[in-house]
Amino acid sequence: MADKTLICKDCNSEFIFTQGEQDFYKEKGFMNEPQRCSSCRTAKKQQRKSYGNGFSKSRSFGSKMDFRSW
Ligand SMILES: [Zn+2]
Repeated sequence: MADKTLICKDCNSEFIFTQGEQDFYKEKGFMNEPQRCSSCRTAKKQQRKSYGNGFSKSRSFGSKMDFRSW
């Protein structure tokens, strides 16, 4: 077992799936190898956070507007 070089789905750059991370994945029972490099993963996580907040806010705002216009 050794470090693996994988290609990031998002930025197409190579990243290292280290032995330690492979062990961590196994421990957690993850069957799939990571699809993204760590920087894209972090970016995605932050994006999802801000997107989720913005979405729920604009959604409730939007439904209020809909009720008014009805
Ligand atoms: Zn990437």
